[in-house]
Amino acid sequence: MTKTADAIVIGAGIVGASTAYQLARTGRRVALVDQGAGAGYGSSSASSGIIRFEYTLPTSVVVAWEASHMWADLRSYLQAPAGEELAEFHRNGKIMLDCPAFPRAALRAHFDALGIEYEEWDADELERRIGGIDAGKFYPPKPIDSDSFWDDPHGRLGAVYTPQAGFIDDPRLACENFANAARRAGAETLYRTEVTAITPVAGTPDSAGPAGATTWRVDTNTGAVLEAPLLVNAAGPWSPEVNALAGVGAEFAITTRPLRQEVHAVPAPAGFNPTGSIGPCVADQDLGYYLRPEPSGSLVIGGTEPECDQLEWVTGPLAEVNMNRTAELFDKQVTRAGRRFPALAIPPRPAGVVGIYDVATDWTPIYDKTAATGFFVAIGTSGNQFKNGPIIGEFMAAIIAATDAGADHDTVPVQYSGRVSGRSVDLGFYSRLRAPAANSGTVAG
Ligand SMILES: Cc1cc2nc3c(=O)[nH]c(=O)nc-3n(C[C@H](O)[C@H](O)[C@H](O)COP(=O)(O)OP(=O)(O)OC[C@H]3O[C@@H](n4cnc5c(N)ncnc54)[C@H](O)[C@@H]3O)c2cc1C
Repeated sequence: MTKTADAIVIGAGIVGASTAYQLARTGRRVALVDQGAGAGYGSSSASSGIIRFEYTLPTSVVVAWEASHMWADLRSYLQAPAGEELAEFHRNGKIMLDCPAFPRAALRAHFDALGIEYEEWDADELERRIGGIDAGKFYPPKPIDSDSFWDDPHGRLGAVYTPQAGFIDDPRLACENFANAARRAGAETLYRTEVTAITPVAGTPDSAGPAGATTWRVDTNTGAVLEAPLLVNAAGPWSPEVNALAGVGAEFAITTRPLRQEVHAVPAPAGFNPTGSIGPCVADQDLGYYLRPEPSGSLVIGGTEPECDQLEWVTGPLAEVNMNRTAELFDKQVTRAGRRFPALAIPPRPAGVVGIYDVATDWTPIYDKTAATGFFVAIGTSGNQFKNGPIIGEFMAAIIAATDAGADHDTVPVQYSGRVSGRSVDLGFYSRLRAPAANSGTVAG
C-alpha cells in the first residue's frame, strides 16, 4: 500500500514532532513516522529537559530565550484543548556556578542585551541562598578515583542565577503534545513503523547523490510505503543511518555521531528544596556535573563532559548499546554532586536512565536543507536542544518554505524573526556547510 503525502518527517522526538506540527499548519499533508510505540521514546524521553539561557554564542542565547516563551505558553502555542494533559515548564530558576567557559562578563552581556533577568551571587550569597551547598572552588574537574579529587578547595566561587530558567517535567509527554498538535493540524502519525529504505523515484540523480530527486519513496518494516516530495530527517541519534539510507550527506562539513549518557536520581540533600517548593537547577562545571530537581523534590544528576572523562561514543549499532545505567557512571556523577552538597545521601540502589544523543562536530545542531532536492535535516542536537524543540519546528518550516519558493538557503540564509526579542536569527548559523562554531565544545554549547 503506497500513501502519498506532501511531507514525511522521520522521527517523532521533540524535533520531528515540532517540525510536523509547523509543516501541517502550513496546510501540507504530513506523515510523521517513528519506530517507537509513540512520540518521544528516543533521546527526548531521557532528556533532563532543562531550559537555560547560558550559551557561549549570542545566537544560541536568543534562540533559547525565544523558545522558553513558547514552552511557557504551551497550551495556546499548540492550540491544545483544555482537557489535554500537557508537559509543564517549571520556572524554578537555575544557577550557573562560576567557571572559565562561562565568564560572568559574557553572561552579563548576553542577558543585558535581551533583558533576561539575572542575579550575581558571591560565595557567601550562594551559601545563603542554596541550602547545603559548599562554595569551594575545585576547578578543573578531576577523575573521582584520583587523589586530587579530594584536594581541599583552592578558593571560593559564586554563581549567576537566572530565575526564569527551569525545566520541562515530562519531556516524553511534551513530544506527544506536539504530535497531537500536528494531528489536529491534519498530520498522520505512523508509530511502530521503522523506515528501512529511502529511494528517490523521480528526477535525475547526479554524481553527488540523488540531487535531482523530486519524490522520495520511503519503505518501512510494516510494509507501508510512503511517497512525498519533501522529507525531513529528524531521527536523532539514528540520523546518520537515515542519511545513509538516502545516500545523503557527502557535502556535509559538519557531521554527527551518537554519544551514550546517563542521568541518575537521588534524594535531595536536606535544605536544598525550600519549604513548599523546589530548589533551582544547578550547572557545576567546576566539578563536572549538573542537577535539577524533580517536581517531587528528588534530584536528577547528569554530567557536563569534563575533559578528564572518557566520553562513551557509540561506534556500533544503536540497538546494541547498553541501556542499563552503570555503577561506574552513577558513582562518578553522584560523587561529584556530593562534593558540592556534602549532605547528599547516596541511595543504596542506584536509579537512573540511559540516553543517547547525536553530537555535531562543533556541538551546534544542523537545521538545514541538503544537496538532495527535498531532503532536509534537523539533527546533531548535541545534548542541549530539547529546550529549543518548539522553535526548531519553526526554523525547519521557514527553511522549507524559502526553498520551495526558489531561494537558496546556502547562499542567502533564511532569517527568522524572534517574536520576543525582536532579534533576527540567521539560520545559516545551523548550516551543514559552516566552519565549526567557536563555542564551549561541550554539551553546554
Ligand atoms: C540524558 C540526556 C539529558 C538531556 N538533557 C537535556 C536538557 O536538560 N536540556 C536540553 O535542552 N536538552 C537535553 N538533552 C538533549 C535533548 O534531549 C535532545 O537534543 C532532543 O531530545 C533530541 O530530540 P530529537 O527529536 O532530535 O531526537 P529523538 O528524541 O531521539 O527522536 C528521534 C526519533 O527518531 C526515531 N527514529 C530513528 N530512526 C528511525 C527510523 N529508521 N524509522 C522510524 N523512526 C526512527 C526514533 O525512534 C526517535 O523517536 C538531553 C539528552 C539526553 C540523552
